[in-house]
Amino acid sequence: MPELPEVETVRRTLNELVAGKRIQSVTVHLPRIIQRPEEPELFAAALEGRTIQTVERRGKFLRVLMDGLVMVSHLRMEGRYGVYKQEEPVEKHTHVIFHFDDGTELRYKDVRQFGTMHLFEPGDELLKPPLNKLGIEPLSDEFTAAVLRKLLAKKTTRLKPLLLNQEYVVGLGNIYVDEALFLAGIHPERTADSLKTKEWELLYEAIRITLGKAVEAGGSSIKSYVNGQGEMGMFQHQFSVYGRQNQPCNRCGGSIEKSVVGGRGTHVCMACQPLPRVRRNKAIAR
Ligand SMILES: [Zn+2]
Repeated sequence: MPELPEVETVRRTLNELVAGKRIQSVTVHLPRIIQRPEEPELFAAALEGRTIQTVERRGKFLRVLMDGLVMVSHLRMEGRYGVYKQEEPVEKHTHVIFHFDDGTELRYKDVRQFGTMHLFEPGDELLKPPLNKLGIEPLSDEFTAAVLRKLLAKKTTRLKPLLLNQEYVVGLGNIYVDEALFLAGIHPERTADSLKTKEWELLYEAIRITLGKAVEAGGSSIKSYVNGQGEMGMFQHQFSVYGRQNQPCNRCGGSIEKSVVGGRGTHVCMACQPLPRVRRNKAIAR
């Protein structure tokens, strides 16, 4: 599933490709992609004649701002956008086509069919699902080490599921949580309340650095991710732990281990990310 760096890359390329274009009509081949309004006919009718102003991002969602309307789009597992000339053959698994009045088309392709599209009146999209419960943007000025600590420091649950939960910090998925925790030298199974102030600072820095570098590299192309112009991201060549099980750690030479934490494949270097021993005496004392 694309995470913040991949969605941000799609946003940038898409913005260059479609901003200023006017939608003449919309064809929906797979109604289930359209979540709001429920009827694909109403979705298509509402978009007719709208001009795309800009493409923004909230967490892992794209926000396509138009005159008087906002489309919220989630790519889920394998959704892809691409801009084509009208006469170019339509590829298999193309489910929604936005026909522009300049002879080009924005096509949404999705082999797995899990992607979603919602329409809202401007501003409404932030107050209703799927965007209303999203947490803080990790690359925003508002996100600081103190904010991260305040959000999570009292939680008694393990860090990895907390960082994956989009209600606290948005945009992090399995790849970037593993990479950030490695960079911070913190084991994903540590409980949030076990972190010291210094460790919150390290984790904060690691999240910013990891996401920043990945955005710079155009995201990570694993499985089928490509940006809006069909180009691959390059950050997968900089992974320290993700997908590197049984390979040597770049920092200490030890072996990267893979385990399952909260149902997700998790990659750690046990030497660089030590797991403190459970304090048994605490349990005995009770
Ligand atoms: Zn190591």
